[in-house]
Amino acid sequence: MDYNKLAELLFPDIQKTPADYEALYPPRENAEHGACITRLGPSPTGFIHLGNLYGAFVDERLAHQSKASDGTGGTFFLRIEDTDDKRYVEGAVETIINSLGFFDIKFDEGAALDGHDSGNYGPYYQSQRGPIYQAFVKELIRKGQAYPCFLTEDDLAAIRQEQEANKETTGIYGKYAEKSRNLSYEEIESNIAAGKPYVIRLKSSDTSTANPDSKVSYEDHDGVTYISIVDGIRGKVAMPANDQDVVILKANGIPTYHFAHVIDDHLMHTTHVVRGEEWLMSLPIHVELFEKLGFELPVYCHTAVLMKIDDETGNKRKLSKRKDPELSLDYYRKEGYHPKAVKEYLLTILNSNYEEWRAEHPDADIDEFQFTTDKMSSAGALFDLNKLMDISKDVLLGIPAEELAAFMLNWAQEFKPQAAPLLENQEYLSKILDLGRHDKKPRKDLIHAKQIFDFISYFYDEYFTIEERIPEQVSDEDAREILTRYLETYDHSDDQSEWFEKIRTITADLGYAVKPKDYKKHPEEYKGSVAHVSTVIRIAVMGRSQSPDVWAIQQILGEERVRSRISQLIG
Ligand code: GLU
Repeated sequence: MDYNKLAELLFPDIQKTPADYEALYPPRENAEHGACITRLGPSPTGFIHLGNLYGAFVDERLAHQSKASDGTGGTFFLRIEDTDDKRYVEGAVETIINSLGFFDIKFDEGAALDGHDSGNYGPYYQSQRGPIYQAFVKELIRKGQAYPCFLTEDDLAAIRQEQEANKETTGIYGKYAEKSRNLSYEEIESNIAAGKPYVIRLKSSDTSTANPDSKVSYEDHDGVTYISIVDGIRGKVAMPANDQDVVILKANGIPTYHFAHVIDDHLMHTTHVVRGEEWLMSLPIHVELFEKLGFELPVYCHTAVLMKIDDETGNKRKLSKRKDPELSLDYYRKEGYHPKAVKEYLLTILNSNYEEWRAEHPDADIDEFQFTTDKMSSAGALFDLNKLMDISKDVLLGIPAEELAAFMLNWAQEFKPQAAPLLENQEYLSKILDLGRHDKKPRKDLIHAKQIFDFISYFYDEYFTIEERIPEQVSDEDAREILTRYLETYDHSDDQSEWFEKIRTITADLGYAVKPKDYKKHPEEYKGSVAHVSTVIRIAVMGRSQSPDVWAIQQILGEERVRSRISQLIG
């Protein structure tokens, strides 16, 4: 067979050669000097999840932490893998960029918000790279390493049936590939003339001797060739070599993921391919493609699947889109988690030595941590929402109240617009958020914006309600008396001890114990204690029995609000 002639028959319009593309996309200088080039290759399905963030975080850290010998950093780019157009969702690219941007993950190049690419290695949408892929397929045809296959759906189903009956591996390989591999030029030509659809398949073969510089090792196990590579996360990974004549170009001229990512990661000079472990299975195909095309293999880093403990069964299972709202990145924005908290948490599941580092460097910027792929677990990473909440409490404590107030306002504008105008008074909000945060044992009850808002809502008249009943030790009559006297003696300029002294007086006058322990010892002598009296005041002013320091709260609420809440209750 004259493969050159076949290549022309199949791709008459493809004029550029691989060499032309190599010249168009020369090696990157930073990578030549040792920096990492990483990419995120999401499909634009409109759903962006924690797994994407997890992977993107690894990509981002690898690129931005690495330095070329001349001091320049690495490059992290966004490539949209939209070869499967059924899955394209309008606005998906914006969702990807904005969702990751919220977590401070920014791309240096690639698909961009305005619909235009930025960078010299584009286009960054696979759907726009058709002629590039075809030039490389044409070259493989020319070398006799790929061929057109006209098997119909029915043919493929029949082959599969036969293989299943014989308990053989399914697919097109060995004798099942022979018929298509051996078509003559004339047969191919007449099939094409008859308008028969076809795909291009890789002619799989042993590549173990192909490339002396290869990063792939080949081992023989009982007559089966195994490939082995060093995965950035998993270390040595050995698997049986590919023997399937996989499809590289579909009937519509669009490449499969296998082929597209190999060409792209080569031409875009990706040094580290971080992707989910679901791709590990097809690694031998990718290795064969890299080898056949004579490309250097990137460092593959297959990340572990995100797992959680199932609430009902108590067993570990994969996070599921249907069952677990926390899988969606939107969840964190809607709940108002601070991106710093989510990042901090992600690092604890990403790198086993992170928590130790944080304990030693409590105030250091998170980016100072030296992230490494070999400290990543290859078994399932366990995601735990409660742990995130705990971490969030600590992280929020380290964020100045003014910054937190601005964050709350942004959150409200998007997710609680009716409350946003109230939060525009940033000075008021900052004081509220700062309450008790500078004590010796600072309060740790702020977790995420939605929870914080509910937690502090009593500071706003529009949201103030009496949520709890007065303690049973206090009769309605006494409650009225306590509040009446409290109002009468209230002086907003009292300091904390003057203020408390007045409460003690009321307490003693009405027959309650000034010291709670006296009441505990001799309950028959008192109606209750100062704690019950204070609770009545708390409920009147805050609507709830649990709250930070009442005096401090009243200082923030202001005299007018305090007086009006109490008078309203007395009626
Ligand atoms: N488009 C693939 C996905 O969305 C990306 C895999 C890769 O990063 O190579 O799963």
